[in-house]
Amino acid sequence: MRGSGAAGLRAGGLCVPAGGSGTLPDLLAASLPPGTVRTGVHVTAADITTVRTKEHGELGCRSLLLATGAGAAAELLPGLRVPAFRPVTVLHHTAPAPPPTGRSLVLDGDRAGPVAYTAVMSEVDPSRAPEGRTLITSTVLGTPPPDLDRSVRTHLAALYGTPTDDWELLAAHHDPEAVPAMEAPHDPRRPVRVLAGLYVCGDHRDTSSVQGALHSGRRAAEAILTDLGVAPAHLGGVGLPEAA
Ligand SMILES: Cc1cc2nc3c(=O)[nH]c(=O)nc-3n(C[C@H](O)[C@H](O)[C@H](O)COP(=O)(O)OP(=O)(O)OC[C@H]3O[C@@H](n4cnc5c(N)ncnc54)[C@H](O)[C@@H]3O)c2cc1C
Repeated sequence: MRGSGAAGLRAGGLCVPAGGSGTLPDLLAASLPPGTVRTGVHVTAADITTVRTKEHGELGCRSLLLATGAGAAAELLPGLRVPAFRPVTVLHHTAPAPPPTGRSLVLDGDRAGPVAYTAVMSEVDPSRAPEGRTLITSTVLGTPPPDLDRSVRTHLAALYGTPTDDWELLAAHHDPEAVPAMEAPHDPRRPVRVLAGLYVCGDHRDTSSVQGALHSGRRAAEAILTDLGVAPAHLGGVGLPEAA
């Protein structure tokens, strides 16, 4: 959000993982002993003692934590609730010069167009764009308008206070099932422990966001440690090494 000149308020910068959101799981994995985490493995079936994979056959386990989206979780654990989903579209534009908002997240409080929020990502995280290039990333929540690029650029011109006729659309990613719907009354603390040895986490157990997914993962990890009789680090147990 942009700062204001009012006493007590300061302009703050948007904060994202440098290099892209994939950096975050990479850093978490790097804090564990080598070989602990295997990626690129497709799980075809799982229960509390065995995980069947496409690439490595069967792996034994003491507990199972399913950390997929809601649809994949219900395929592996039939009976899990599958919520309705909401679409999200993300557009990336380049411009001859960066709009003057610095590292701020620009929100449309007036809802005067399709863009919910936008930022000059090359200012927030320079590693996301080639040197000297400007990258503006904008998010449209819900069903996008048919003339997406034109209506988004018109809206961005108003939000940034600068003409956008010479901006170029680099990519538009639409995901019809981007986030689980949070219909009222929404329970932001859905259970993560199915039974001793079987756990499930993800945005569909919490709030539909990265924060919700991370928080549900923490709740699941604490439930696993409790069931295994291990005190979580913040309760005096042995802590894991800190991620870089
Ligand atoms: C376009 C878009 C924009 C978004 N913008 C924002 C935003 O600005 N802010 C925000 O907070 N949230 C945003 N979100 C939502 C956010 O990305 C999700 O809420 C979050 O990623 C959910 O995390 P998760 O761990 O629950 O699931 P996911 O991130 O979906 O991770 C689940 C993982 O499980 C893996 N998997 C699935 N099935 C299997 C299987 N059978 N075997 C092995 N692995 C499997 C998948 O490959 C995936 O890596 C956005 C989502 C989209 C699609």
